[in-house]
Amino acid sequence: MNQSQISAGIRRKAALARAPLSAALELTPMCNFSCKMCYVRRSPAEVREAGGLRDAGWWLDVARQARDCGLLFPLITGGEPMTYPELPRLLSGLRELGLLPSMNTNASLIGPAELKWLSRCPPVRFNITLYGAGDSGYGALCGDPGGFTKVDRAIRALRDAGYTLHLSASITPEDQDQLQGIIAYGRKLGIPVQVATYMFPPVRRREDCFGQNQRLSPEEAGRLQAMADFWQYPPQTFLRTARHYAAFVPLAQIDFDSLQPGPGEEMACTAGRCSCWVDWQGGLMPCGMNGEPRWSLDEMPFARAWDLARTHTEGVRACGVCQRCPNRDICHVCATMVYNETGTYQDRPLYFCRMTEAAAEQYRALAADMDGTALTEDGESGPLERECDF
Ligand code: SF4
Ligand code: SF4
Repeated sequence: MNQSQISAGIRRKAALARAPLSAALELTPMCNFSCKMCYVRRSPAEVREAGGLRDAGWWLDVARQARDCGLLFPLITGGEPMTYPELPRLLSGLRELGLLPSMNTNASLIGPAELKWLSRCPPVRFNITLYGAGDSGYGALCGDPGGFTKVDRAIRALRDAGYTLHLSASITPEDQDQLQGIIAYGRKLGIPVQVATYMFPPVRRREDCFGQNQRLSPEEAGRLQAMADFWQYPPQTFLRTARHYAAFVPLAQIDFDSLQPGPGEEMACTAGRCSCWVDWQGGLMPCGMNGEPRWSLDEMPFARAWDLARTHTEGVRACGVCQRCPNRDICHVCATMVYNETGTYQDRPLYFCRMTEAAAEQYRALAADMDGTALTEDGESGPLERECDF
């Protein structure tokens, strides 16, 4: 049994026990970068106006309550968590509670002084988002012309110190030209980069933006998804994924107008089943990409909010159209994608349909030039076995 199968097994057990095995703790919406496509970032003035940040004591109290409900893996996130003033105290406190925190970061603020205090209370894993493969990319996108140099230095120092690193990149119109360079950089370090070309409409920030985002066209997002796999993975791994997509039925051959939506599917990922998200203003949500529903931890203890989140999640029925679509077993659509794309849990998420079709076409075209005879069974895991890292 490999590590991801063990993790999936633990998550399944936690879901059965109705325990919040993991929880994202969104300490701050502030960031030292000012990336053009970012919808999370807020200025210090905006944060002050909205009531300010919660202090480490507040977060540790939430973490203790969550641990008593079953939390083991808190995920420290932001904004940029390294800008949170009490991060050392919070990380030590989480370890003292017996928890195993991981941390999302852009890594640009991790220098020698930070490495020193991090060594006393390190996260079990650093999830580092890359925004380019050189200083010019970071300058254009993040507003920090020396950004890549700092990030590269931090990544190498963390790797040399033996920490577990996970690299990711979210590809947008602004940094799509950096994708190949980012993958080459990960390869040079011996760390694969998890590439996301799908961007959720940021409905948590703006309620009127269902189906909208400053993102790639669906065709470009699908094409780059396949290209990223092609550039990154060994041929057999790529061909396994290509085979998964090979049975995609072209959208033009499906009569969506006369397709009767199904009753909807239960939530199948970890959200609200064994994971949740606590935002910087103290609200608990099943999924961090969807601000609704949300229960305030100022008004109730964690256990009550988690109970409400679980009960809500059990009642969600989503993806009614997708449920009847012949591509459902191929397509990685989820409840929040349908909601953020359409404003309902049932309609057809057109952007995601077109993106998946474009990905399938690109996988097919690339695989056509390769030898697929040694393919083994697909082994693609179900949604609960995949965990969102954002
Ligand atoms: S799979 Fe979808 S619903 Fe589940 S946590 Fe990820 S974005 Fe949210
Ligand atoms: S999102 Fe996927 S499953 Fe849903 S209708 Fe489109 S192609 Fe079919």
